[in-house]
Amino acid sequence: MSRIISVAFFLCVSVGMTAQAPQDQPKVVKINDSIYMAPLGANVYLLTTPEGDVVIDTGNLGVAPDARKLLRAESHAPVKYIILTHGHADHIAGISLWKEAGTQIIAQRNYVELLDYVARLEDFFAPRNAAAFNRPPQEAGPWKGNYGAKIEPTILFDETYEFTLGGVQFQLFSTPGETPDHLTVWIPNYKTAFIGDNYNGFGEPEPVSFPNLYALRGTKPRWALDWIRSIDKVLSLKPDVLLSGHGEPIVGNDEITRRLTRFRNAIQYVHDEVVKGMNSGKDVFTLMREIKLPASFDMTESFGKVSRSVRGIYDGYAGWYDMNPSTMYELPPSSVYPDLVRLAGGPEPVVRLAQEKLEAGKPVEALHLTDVVLAYDPNNNAALAARLKTLENLREHNENYLEVGYLDYGINTTKAKLGSK
Ligand SMILES: [Zn+2]
Repeated sequence: MSRIISVAFFLCVSVGMTAQAPQDQPKVVKINDSIYMAPLGANVYLLTTPEGDVVIDTGNLGVAPDARKLLRAESHAPVKYIILTHGHADHIAGISLWKEAGTQIIAQRNYVELLDYVARLEDFFAPRNAAAFNRPPQEAGPWKGNYGAKIEPTILFDETYEFTLGGVQFQLFSTPGETPDHLTVWIPNYKTAFIGDNYNGFGEPEPVSFPNLYALRGTKPRWALDWIRSIDKVLSLKPDVLLSGHGEPIVGNDEITRRLTRFRNAIQYVHDEVVKGMNSGKDVFTLMREIKLPASFDMTESFGKVSRSVRGIYDGYAGWYDMNPSTMYELPPSSVYPDLVRLAGGPEPVVRLAQEKLEAGKPVEALHLTDVVLAYDPNNNAALAARLKTLENLREHNENYLEVGYLDYGINTTKAKLGSK
């Protein structure tokens, strides 16, 4: 996830601690005499105790060895536990680098289903991830029948799990949010909470981004009310140091409370507006257009986007059926696009209309119109050219980096089609 790495890398602004400037080589961040952080995209943490070390998250495939090298310069003690805040690839890729004989690996029980689900849909996700993160295009293949993933944790818990190592108490809580298996690690001795990706550091120090309640690559609903309860749980611990999966440490309970409260209130606001709208009979697209986060939240949409989260919440509650009898059936609206083009007298007037929409500042309508023409003739040069221009227009000044990934994908595939003609 190279873009995540670069985004998080450039977010490394010191909060009263030693952190690297973007132009420097990554350095370890010393949180206190016992906690170290390797800030290489997805943060990897090492906790030292008189009886051995504990690793929290293991990093991204590309940088996990570097993260380990940085942290092993601080301690060579045996790794007694690896704790996984959740099962996303950028947090578990380095497990084998840290695992020793006798290392216990801890995850929340939903980790198993999360990894099985990702394995089951491996070839569905592959091209979507490639597009999002600007990797070479990947074609889906036939299903490999891979129902099960490699499950490495040796300890799985439901609600809470506790252990003490070298006099340091570790309390783990199930805190579903960005994933159903999210856990929070609480170290009472240090009043430090490890929140995983339930609070993302994108945009830190500020303004921080709204969370990704629906990821474009495809996710099950990220349950807003669970996420809010999980943030409330972390707030109730009254941490003095908050350490997240990406981004900088946040220090001081007042600051942590301010930021987490804003974050959970933003999720609550959007959730409640969706529920209000659903109960008043509004359709999902109306709510996607209408619901805006009030300016007082002072949050960006560089990572999560409110409109897509609205749809994520709506679909999470209600699924896909919209009460229109037409949508109950197997044929999508695009099945009649070629007929509409024929009625219009051919592609030219529809392409012209797309160009007019773009010039009128309505690029999404322009994009839909190119879909209409391309359903009639997938190789129509004028429609492809109009589509390219429209995608480039949407790409310009776009602050949402995941959306940019899919726009770039659209731009590249359209260019390839134009070039191959
Ligand atoms: Zn992550």
